[in-house]
Amino acid sequence: MTLQNFDVVIVGGGIVGLATAYGITDADPDARVAIVEKEGGVARHQSGRNSGVLHSGIYYRPGSRKAEFTALGRASMLQFCEAHEIPYDMCGKPIVASELADIPRLEALEARARGNKVRARRLTSGQMAEVEPSVHGLGALHVADAGVVDFAQVSRVLEDVLRSRGVELHLGRAVTGLKEGSASVVVVTDAGGVEASFVVNCAGLHADRLSGGPKMTQQRLRIIPFRGEFFELAEAKRSLVRGLVYPVPDPAFPFLGVHLNRGIDGRVMAGPNAVLGLAREGYSWRAVEWREIGELLRYRGMRRLARRHWRTGVREVLRSFSTRRFERDLQRLVPEIRRTDLTRAPAGVRAQAVSRDGELLDDFEIAETARAVHVLNAPSPGATASLEIGRTIAGMVAKRRA
Ligand SMILES: Cc1cc2nc3c(=O)[nH]c(=O)nc-3n(C[C@H](O)[C@H](O)[C@H](O)COP(=O)(O)OP(=O)(O)OC[C@H]3O[C@@H](n4cnc5c(N)ncnc54)[C@H](O)[C@@H]3O)c2cc1C
Repeated sequence: MTLQNFDVVIVGGGIVGLATAYGITDADPDARVAIVEKEGGVARHQSGRNSGVLHSGIYYRPGSRKAEFTALGRASMLQFCEAHEIPYDMCGKPIVASELADIPRLEALEARARGNKVRARRLTSGQMAEVEPSVHGLGALHVADAGVVDFAQVSRVLEDVLRSRGVELHLGRAVTGLKEGSASVVVVTDAGGVEASFVVNCAGLHADRLSGGPKMTQQRLRIIPFRGEFFELAEAKRSLVRGLVYPVPDPAFPFLGVHLNRGIDGRVMAGPNAVLGLAREGYSWRAVEWREIGELLRYRGMRRLARRHWRTGVREVLRSFSTRRFERDLQRLVPEIRRTDLTRAPAGVRAQAVSRDGELLDDFEIAETARAVHVLNAPSPGATASLEIGRTIAGMVAKRRA
């Protein structure tokens, strides 16, 4: 049976899909909106398996979507949390220089902070000790506009708000394809079709598969799953970390390096690393999808990426198997951390788009066809930016409906 008469159907009940429904119903409370989600609940993938950091936007090129959406999205997220009594903590974060080579990178980040209007100031190692007494380093850049929240909780509250606005959530229903016609689009699912005027594809790790295949994106980009593994710090050692502690990131990668963060629940997590996933939802080395591996090997972008970055890839794999290496990297930030203080915690998998030229797409990527909007690259800081991504997509859909 085909469900009909929707203005917009959204594929994916992660935070971006939910925020999109929120943006659309904010702009037009009468819009008939449905969300189709393959899992039995919302936020089961990236949105429920992340670091929970409200990012400042310091890292991103001024003028990029990431820079703009992070600043606006963080402000909207804080308002949303206030309005719905969701706990958050704008604890700020030091980005710590551990060696001399980090200093020019820290200076470049400081310039970025100015360009992106992020509040940040340099700390000497003495000043750093006042903020995070157990952290060692040559100095730091302290970013005031950063904090922590539980994005899974935000997603559940969004779900409640959307239901109260009359948005239909169809859970446990997998989308297998999209059929765009001249007057409508049919979202084909394993339990019948859902017809609407427009579709928004917020399928995260699977978004490229639903976006027209080779014709539209496969030639241009492909989502590559990068697993981020976490360790939890023993309760007795939690006092070693007061808030967020980050290393200076390698500018060649969009990942921020293994860091330490005290979540809103008081637990301290270390991670995430970035290893190639052997399945789209490959949360461990045991999760292997042969079709995915075959496609990865055939994809020109993947081969180019591997040629360019194989050394980093090998290092990440070795660290994934060796708690000793993880310990060593953490000790650069907090020397008192010991391997025996670390317990493996659930991993997350990033949906990172890679171009045919083997570039990791740096910015958010949103593409349009006549009746569809596809969110093709929304990795970190996608959760922080989600409400702004949703508002932007609502604007794109409204223009087409006008
Ligand atoms: C390890 C890690 C750490 C991160 N840390 C941070 C952070 O600290 N701060 C931050 O801002 N961001 C962070 N991020 C990024 C953030 O989590 C993502 O940007 C955000 O959650 C993306 O949301 P989404 O809705 O696009 O994707 P998802 O949450 O993955 O949702 C996509 C949804 O689509 C559904 N779906 C997929 N295919 C289909 C289909 N065929 N039919 C029906 N449903 C389908 C999936 O089941 C899923 O529920 C992190 C991500 C990871 C993995």
